[in-house]
Amino acid sequence: MSAPNKSYDPVEVETLKPEEIERMRDEALAAFAAADSLDALHEAKVAQTGPASPLALANREIGALPPHAKAEAGKRVGQARGAVNKALAARQVELEAERDARVLVEEAVDVTLPYDRVPSGARHPLTTMMERVADVFVAMGYEVAEGPEAEAEWFNFDALNFLPDHPARQMQDTFFVQGPKGTEESGSGVVLRTHTSPVQARALLDRELPVYIVCPGRVFRTDELDATHTPVFHQIELLAIDEGLTMADLKGTLDHMVQALFGADMKTRLRPNYFPFTEPSAEMDMLCYVCKGESIGNPDRPCRTCSSEGWIELGGCGMVNPRVLTACGVDPEKYSGFAFGFGIERMLMFRHNVEDMRDMVEGDVRFTRPFGMEI
Ligand SMILES: [Zn+2]
Repeated sequence: MSAPNKSYDPVEVETLKPEEIERMRDEALAAFAAADSLDALHEAKVAQTGPASPLALANREIGALPPHAKAEAGKRVGQARGAVNKALAARQVELEAERDARVLVEEAVDVTLPYDRVPSGARHPLTTMMERVADVFVAMGYEVAEGPEAEAEWFNFDALNFLPDHPARQMQDTFFVQGPKGTEESGSGVVLRTHTSPVQARALLDRELPVYIVCPGRVFRTDELDATHTPVFHQIELLAIDEGLTMADLKGTLDHMVQALFGADMKTRLRPNYFPFTEPSAEMDMLCYVCKGESIGNPDRPCRTCSSEGWIELGGCGMVNPRVLTACGVDPEKYSGFAFGFGIERMLMFRHNVEDMRDMVEGDVRFTRPFGMEI
């Protein structure tokens, strides 16, 4: 190693010459002045003040100078950077003010204008999605069934094999409807339904066998509204009860549904799970409709839709628990069947890249219009 060069002259370091520093400063000021939008200003900011900017690189050179030269070079670079940052902040304020003024003009509504026609509007994408799924089953001969949203606890829980002390009654965080005055303590025995499954029990009690129904509808849980939760959401539920139905029928039905909705090369898979009203129960996944599973173990083809897992979780399913059949007056020795259900919001989120669930409930027509009108 050689000894430090005592005669080292800072003027010799090209990037630290006063005229060079001035040139860098002026270049940055010119870049900010030329930026005509906040995006352009951000690009200029990265180029002129970021870690790879000329002034940042010059600043790094100072460390290599001998001690007596550092102070002067440091002051010079520091002043230039100060001027650059000041100009950047000033331009930022200017451009933000311009943008705010423009938004005020562009989004202004003249409430005095005559209003002479009804806008055509659009159906809510949740409704069209729910109907599209229901149509797949109607085409297979299923019937659409509906039930009340304020539901008897018996239908919501007991008939579906949730016993009174079943932890799922707590887990589901249910809205209980207050009883008549003076009977609050005992409760009314009525809840806002936590799933569309009580329609299954109602259908079995109401109808002749065999039963093939699809139940779309609103359900309620005490979740706070945020990007991925909403206290009111939509489910679609399917129930088939007949002689000789097996898990193979369930699998075939699921495969048909995802093929009808997402394309002929789609398929599903089942993973073991537990639900009180089905036995055996399974979690159903569908093949990722974007990468078709090709992102699994393939770092060259990452997939954002499925986080490179290849599969997307869709909902729960299983063979209807014989206890449910018995509770609804159906002989489990003679009849069997399957059920499955999933959330419509979730399907809309991944099918249309909706990132925030709040967009679906806030009622802003700018969200619903692009989905257009579907009859
Ligand atoms: Zn994927």
